Amino acid sequence: AQHFLARARQHQNLGAFVSIDEDATLAQARAADALIAAGQGGKLAGVPIAHKDIFVTKDFPSTAASKMLEGYQSPFDATVVKKLADAGVVTLGKLNCDEFAMGGANENSAVAPVGFAEPQPVRNPWDTNRVPGGSSGGSAAAVAARLAPAVTGTDTGGSIRQPASFCGITGIKPTYGRASRYGMIAFASSLDQAGPMGRSAEDCALLLSEMCGPDLDRDSTSLDYPAEDFTAKLNDSIEGLRIGIPAEFFGEGLAGDVRVAVDAALKEYEKLGAKLVPVSLPRTELSVPVYYILAPAEASSNLSRFDGVKFGHRAAKYEDLNDMYKKTRAEGFGDEVKRRIMIGAYVLSEGYYDAYYLQAQKIRRMIADDFQAAFKDCDVIAGAAAPTTAWAIGGKADPVSNYLADIFTLPASLAGLPGLSLPAGFGDGGLPVGLQLIGNYFSESRLLNAAHRFQ
Ligand code: GLN
Repeated sequence: AQHFLARARQHQNLGAFVSIDEDATLAQARAADALIAAGQGGKLAGVPIAHKDIFVTKDFPSTAASKMLEGYQSPFDATVVKKLADAGVVTLGKLNCDEFAMGGANENSAVAPVGFAEPQPVRNPWDTNRVPGGSSGGSAAAVAARLAPAVTGTDTGGSIRQPASFCGITGIKPTYGRASRYGMIAFASSLDQAGPMGRSAEDCALLLSEMCGPDLDRDSTSLDYPAEDFTAKLNDSIEGLRIGIPAEFFGEGLAGDVRVAVDAALKEYEKLGAKLVPVSLPRTELSVPVYYILAPAEASSNLSRFDGVKFGHRAAKYEDLNDMYKKTRAEGFGDEVKRRIMIGAYVLSEGYYDAYYLQAQKIRRMIADDFQAAFKDCDVIAGAAAPTTAWAIGGKADPVSNYLADIFTLPASLAGLPGLSLPAGFGDGGLPVGLQLIGNYFSESRLLNAAHRFQ
């Protein structure tokens, strides 16, 4: 823990951490040492990790990178945090992200990272003028720069897989409902999932094994499906594995250098005994408008709890209750969050609900059905995790160009399927390229096995 805390300080220019509390970390480390000495350490006893600041933690502030929650102290740990603590991990601190996990570049954080007085975009350790991806950008940067051996992230529409891809690490989003959402500050509840990010599939498997499992009393969408030892099948042969290649993932939008790296990775898979089979996900393009209707709709509802009354920021001066709500929310939320609340409120409003929200729900179902049709012919689906490598900080100023870059991660999110990104190679300028593997429900073990054999 001391080693990683020192590295976190040394590389604080990356902006990866939003809170560090050496005393709290070392207290957890001493407790872990005592348990190990008594022969009672859990599976991950003494392993230092850090959590995305979307998870609430009782030993560290929890902000979701929003001014709205600056200084907020949770009285409890999120289920995922608690489960990892029960397995013996030591918490190094909390990691930067886009505000309320809304973003794909980690340029939307509204809190100052450790060592800074003002909010900063997180920097990609491979090229500090580039973004690390998002929204789990602090998580990905921390692993890539070895500020933590492994971390947690959350993925609503790609926020584990895309930053893993941009930072050359491995990350997995499990099947929706396998990891509890209790204590994960909500963005879009029907999509939000927790997952691990690490240097390898093996490290991710170690963490994910402790993160999953039913939490039926606390999360209404938690699945009554047993936890699993995801390390058990890591070394299985992948001879005969059928890898589905959706034509729609290899179209015009895919950058040439990413395509070259992905094709080379797929060739490696063939050498390992896998077979490539063409499949089709015909509604891939629709996943962008569908997601950017449904996610904001859910966000507008979830974020209504930040009203200045129950917790978080409250405006200092106001005329009456209504004015207090307005000023509190105007001051507390950043631009992207406000944009989504407005889109969400619009698509849910009378007269527009049928045309937007309901229609998007129907297409969401079709996207899920398309995957089931594809999985008749293959075991996993592969493609690039993102159409390009990491772009320059400030390089994608308009929101729509950011949204379009999510095209390859959104389909699995909308279908609730598990997805993994592993380092496939490098594109122009030596920037990492991630290969995404998508599996059918509950096939995390197979995804991790396929990634491990490649690594
Ligand atoms: N980039 C997507 C968005 O901005 C996904 C974010 C996420 O998965 N949390 O909504």
